[in-house]
Amino acid sequence: MAREVKQVTFTKAAIPKLTRVAAYARVSSAKDAMHHSLSAQVSHYSGLIQQHPGWQYVGVYSDEAKTGTKDTREAFVRLVSDCKAGKVDMVITKSISRFARNTVTLLETVRDLKALGIDVFFEEQNIHTLSADGELMLSILASYAQEESLSASENQKWRVRKNFEEGKPWNGTLLGYRYRNGVYVIEPDEAETVRRIFREFLSGKGIVSIANGLNADGVRTRYENAWSKGGVSRILRNYAYTGNLLLQKTFRENHLTKKTVVNEGQLPMYHAEGTHEAIISLEDYQAVQAEIAKRAKKYAPVGKCFTGRYPFSSLIVCAHCGKHYRRKITATGPVWICSTYNYQGRAACPSKQIPEPTLTAMTADLDIGDLTEIIAEDRNTLVFRFKDGRKAVKRWQDRSRAESWTPEMKEAARQKAIERNRHNG
Ligand SMILES: [Zn+2]
Repeated sequence: MAREVKQVTFTKAAIPKLTRVAAYARVSSAKDAMHHSLSAQVSHYSGLIQQHPGWQYVGVYSDEAKTGTKDTREAFVRLVSDCKAGKVDMVITKSISRFARNTVTLLETVRDLKALGIDVFFEEQNIHTLSADGELMLSILASYAQEESLSASENQKWRVRKNFEEGKPWNGTLLGYRYRNGVYVIEPDEAETVRRIFREFLSGKGIVSIANGLNADGVRTRYENAWSKGGVSRILRNYAYTGNLLLQKTFRENHLTKKTVVNEGQLPMYHAEGTHEAIISLEDYQAVQAEIAKRAKKYAPVGKCFTGRYPFSSLIVCAHCGKHYRRKITATGPVWICSTYNYQGRAACPSKQIPEPTLTAMTADLDIGDLTEIIAEDRNTLVFRFKDGRKAVKRWQDRSRAESWTPEMKEAARQKAIERNRHNG
């Protein structure tokens, strides 16, 4: 699964000129002020910037929230507006929790600045937003932004930001893991339960029978409850067990409705690899998803199935969600697309559409009548399963998006981003 990065980013041209650097400082409590006064922060940053070769000092923007007064952040607003006006190339700040009032503002600001090629450097986290680490940071923050209600108390907001700073990849609890010393570690007994569920399912056991077996052996869920069909199902479908995360599958619509909606491309979705130790291999996970699909097809009610107007109808199975691919006419011609993806978007299923000519070419040397199914897996991989038990794996090539972006198009997009930011600012 390729990491999906929706924003187009522009690195600054390598012109040998000074980088104009600004700093943002803030103290929010009496305790802060005592240990690290605002004036001390200001002199720290002005010294740091002025002594750095290749840097031009723009200024230190500082906000001070005195006890009992409103946290207005006039300097923060001024800094962002100066950035948008083209006066700043890079911003230095102490930490992500100091920089913005909440995760939503932080993400919006960093993304806006990023689109303009402006780097934000967080000293404590040692992260530049324009770097690859910065991209991962944004993806993880994005997963918290959805959790963070704008009407939440400052304490809750702090918890969310703290979680990120501590490197917690998710907020909830998950059978098989414990959070210890800054990382998620495997809880051996629980991990064995997870492995048992996957193993039994792959050996042909039904979900209800797996749940019954666990209950008979006295095995309990993460919250010490008895196992149900739904509980076992959720374990089998949880992608986090592969050690990777798919972030921002859903997000909170707004702070008034507090409705969690499926991300259908309104916000970027990210694939974060190796965020924690895996309990289940990606291969086993995918085998389970394919098996779920296969059983769903086998037990599907007769008559509900759409029967073949096209050669690939009811033949291509999505490895992610188990649904069949369907034919769709797009601007670039007919494609085959997972029906979940088609109706509910990328957040519901991160599968990829396949151009029909690609499918036709890939199946040209075989008889479609000999096939039981084609499993559409990640990385452009198709697994062909034949009636005689044979299996064939083929991969297909797609045109890369980067190829189709000319320097002129990039410049046009850059101008658009600047214009949009002017309107917003
Ligand atoms: Zn799907």
